[in-house]
Amino acid sequence: MTMRNVLLSAAVLSASFTTLAQAEEVNIYSFRQEFLIKPLLDRFSEETGIKVNVVFAKNGLLERIEHEGQNTPADLLLSADIGPLYEAAERDLVAPIHSDVVERNVPEQFRDPDGKWVGLTSRARIIYASKERVKPGEITRYEELTDPKWKGRICTRSGKHTYNLSLIGAMIAHHGEAEAEKWLQGLKANLARKPQGNDRAQVKAVKEGVCDLALGNSYYFGAMITNDKEPEQKEWAQAVNLVFPNQADNGTHMNISGAALIKHAPHPEAAVKLVEFLTRKEAQEIYAQANFEFPVRPKTPWSPLLQQYMSDFNGDRINLGEIGKNRTLAAKLVDKVGFDN
Ligand code: FE
Repeated sequence: MTMRNVLLSAAVLSASFTTLAQAEEVNIYSFRQEFLIKPLLDRFSEETGIKVNVVFAKNGLLERIEHEGQNTPADLLLSADIGPLYEAAERDLVAPIHSDVVERNVPEQFRDPDGKWVGLTSRARIIYASKERVKPGEITRYEELTDPKWKGRICTRSGKHTYNLSLIGAMIAHHGEAEAEKWLQGLKANLARKPQGNDRAQVKAVKEGVCDLALGNSYYFGAMITNDKEPEQKEWAQAVNLVFPNQADNGTHMNISGAALIKHAPHPEAAVKLVEFLTRKEAQEIYAQANFEFPVRPKTPWSPLLQQYMSDFNGDRINLGEIGKNRTLAAKLVDKVGFDN
């Protein structure tokens, strides 16, 4: 080989390395809206040179990953509830994430023991109680929602909604199937109306006097109280006190937004790097703040808004996998007691 050829092939080699480096990317299939995570993804790309592409869809992503099989472009699945993550693992669509960084940053209750899903933010399913018609301390536990004193005074969305399936799954985990069924029946007996609408619609109903208690996720309070686009939502939020149930026993039911590594991910190393990045303190602060959620990483400061309206509380420490596995049974109980009828 002449000197000229050696130089040439070195040039070709370094050119192809550059191309490789530029081609590094992570593809996300997301049930979460992209704007919630976009600033962090941009920062990750700036820091690492890894490009991140997001496909957002409300439904059908698991089926898509299943159909694409080995040819899937998807590296990571992002979800705003344990449900789809647990289901992806059940359907054998994910590969375990093995990372000391993740294990250090994310408490055990918020990740699969085998690394098949990892929580990135957490949220509480709380009781929104009318300031006018419910005295502080009048309700302190989910179990009390079945008390006849609340007859015709409670609002909730469908029992089949993923957030309620997880809550019912937690009741099954703590009390067993028979007790959970009784609870669901008692709750149904106290409903002010047929389950309908989303979580915010229940708080609106409290404001309008349709009911006095509503079940809803904690971050919707932040979304309502800051809503300049639809300022009437601020009034809904101002009409309620926030009750974090079960402070003296099991703790308030918690759920996660989180990630899972896809089994046939074309870029698994880059994908794990991104998950690690999202569990870092700085990213945790920003990510949790974007949707008024709680950081999963311990000792990460809450956003000023959460600090203003919520005080420290005991969250349920049960592993979310325990809840995930009860969700099918939870759906059966919803049908059995005719919760949505
Ligand atoms: Fe939500």
